[in-house]
Amino acid sequence: MDSVVLSKVTKRFGSVVAVDQADLTVNEGELLVVLGESGCGKTTMLRLIAGLETQDSGDIFIGGQLVNDVPVGKRSVQMIFQHYALWPHMRVFDERNYTNLTFPLKIRKWSQDKIRHFLQPLAQKIGIDESFFGRKPGELSAGQQQRVAIGRAMTTEPRVLLMDEPLSNLDPASRMKMRDEILRFHRERLLTTI
Ligand code: ATP
Repeated sequence: MDSVVLSKVTKRFGSVVAVDQADLTVNEGELLVVLGESGCGKTTMLRLIAGLETQDSGDIFIGGQLVNDVPVGKRSVQMIFQHYALWPHMRVFDERNYTNLTFPLKIRKWSQDKIRHFLQPLAQKIGIDESFFGRKPGELSAGQQQRVAIGRAMTTEPRVLLMDEPLSNLDPASRMKMRDEILRFHRERLLTTI
């Protein structure tokens, strides 16, 4: 897994300084939780690490490599967005088709058998049971959408996982379950996670 280092990173939106000279080191395989009041720059920092924003000054290193000029798709980073970014026209899961959960595996040309064996237990673990498989995101609650987004990120093999408020839309019981699942996923893979 990769380390993430921010060195004096600043990002402005007009007169707003969203991230101000941030220095941060997250070692390989570490799990870092960032807390702060609304608007303090948490999402912006994650977006800078993912390459979705470009800093005005400072350097970002992933796995020891300076990535200031490395575009978003070329960083070994997966981000789970606060608002999930699920494909609205795709159902949750069907190993034969491109669906929200299978998309990353279909792209990698996994067989239907392999997809089913990998994804069915994962879907159960994250609390998406079969009755949801045929639904589109518009037919799911916010918490269910969030679980699908987390499940989808777990199907890719990033070297750094960024989660923007992954528990915010879950009820207390699901939140505990999902928190345990995130921790277990992190321990199993020692994936650098912020
Ligand atoms: P929250 O906990 O409410 O999600 P946050 O800590 O994630 O907040 P950011 O979303 O990073 O905060 O925002 C940091 C600051 O930058 C805020 O003042 C926000 O209004 C501003 N900001 C973020 N994105 C933009 C943008 N695209 N254009 C202008 N201002 C922005």
